[in-house]
Amino acid sequence: MNVKEIVGAVEDSVSRHDEWRGKECINLIASENVMSPLAWKLYNTDFEHRYAEGMPGKRYYQGLSYVDEVESACIEMGKKLFGAEFLDVRPISGCLSILILLSSFAKPGEKYVAPSVPAGAHISQAEFGAAGVRGLEVRHMPLNEEEMNLDIDKSRKIILEHKPKLVNAGGTIFLFPHPLRELREAADEVGAVLTYDGSHVLGLIAGKQFQDPLREGVDVVGASAHKTFPGPQGGMIFGNCDEHYRKIKPKIFPALVSNHHLHRLPALAVTMAEMIEFGEDYAKQVVKNAQALAGALCEYGIDVLAENKGFTKSHQVIADVRKCGGGAWCAESLEGANVILNKNLLPWDDVKNSSNPSGIRIGTAEMTHFGMKESDMKHVAELIKRVWVDKEEPGRVKEDVLEFRSGFLDVKYCFDDMK
Ligand SMILES: *Cc1c(COP(=O)(O)O)cnc(C)c1O
Repeated sequence: MNVKEIVGAVEDSVSRHDEWRGKECINLIASENVMSPLAWKLYNTDFEHRYAEGMPGKRYYQGLSYVDEVESACIEMGKKLFGAEFLDVRPISGCLSILILLSSFAKPGEKYVAPSVPAGAHISQAEFGAAGVRGLEVRHMPLNEEEMNLDIDKSRKIILEHKPKLVNAGGTIFLFPHPLRELREAADEVGAVLTYDGSHVLGLIAGKQFQDPLREGVDVVGASAHKTFPGPQGGMIFGNCDEHYRKIKPKIFPALVSNHHLHRLPALAVTMAEMIEFGEDYAKQVVKNAQALAGALCEYGIDVLAENKGFTKSHQVIADVRKCGGGAWCAESLEGANVILNKNLLPWDDVKNSSNPSGIRIGTAEMTHFGMKESDMKHVAELIKRVWVDKEEPGRVKEDVLEFRSGFLDVKYCFDDMK
């Protein structure tokens, strides 16, 4: 291929991807979502071409009056949405938000306590992730498998024993709210800062349907802006104490963020406004849908975790699919039916076995954003069961997926919806 042909092929790949993932698939990746049409429209602007080091009103470059207005709007609405005294939208990803918090509150060699990866932590909390990059001595809080939540007694002991500078809660397998008040007490006993990684559940927090970390004792929240919170891919940090923000600011700029990818900001402002307006209805439906999907899968004989706890209080459903063919087969075969989700390590899996783990993680945020309700989730469960349990040819199930998805092409819970 010559370069012109390569460019043509790239254009082709993008339009085929957009058609496929945007209109033909049931998207159930728990960390994904879509923006509203208005947010999407304002994503592609000249903001993309500019630099804005510093804070609104205190920049190092000229030409930023409109950027300042938009970034200030994000900050004002975000503070309102999360009941925060400060909020910063410059971190360009969730991972970077976490690294900024680690760098703000613990020095290399100091101790850090966070959930273990089997207890649901994101890789950023591990020695081989951001915590290790910062050179922290990491100790992990274990999972109580019965509860599918942090084992609070053991966690408390670990905190008291290791006397860390920083304790972090939150995670990437996140079915139930973490015991933050208990962690706060333990952190206070050793004088540690308590942070919360809200990447997965930020939209549920905004919609007041999960837990309210700042009211439950957390000092600072770091998060992605694009999972249950349906904004442009990026990150944010917020909290209530000025003294904390004074430590965080220099770790953002000049330390870890120079260009903060300004094209995100207008779309983020729209998303924040939409979450103020519609976030509660959206988040309620996300959780109801996850519970409906879990219940229906369970009735088909699929081993959904935490049945004794009502399966989930978040957007996530976790299933042990060993008897259906294993995590890898279950995820790949569903892709053949245009149902997109991911295999996942379960608490008892060896991290080294991550290419074929026992589990599947399912998220309901994106399909809820496209208007699906509980009865639609039951239909989704049936489509999944036809592949996993009945071992029906995925290509045949795909015909029905295409037909079903064609009824859910418009994003709801957004301003465009009202026109
Ligand atoms: C997704 C995720 C991250 C990383 O966020 P990115 O925006 O992908 O960098 C960090 N922590 C948790 C808990 C996550 O789920």
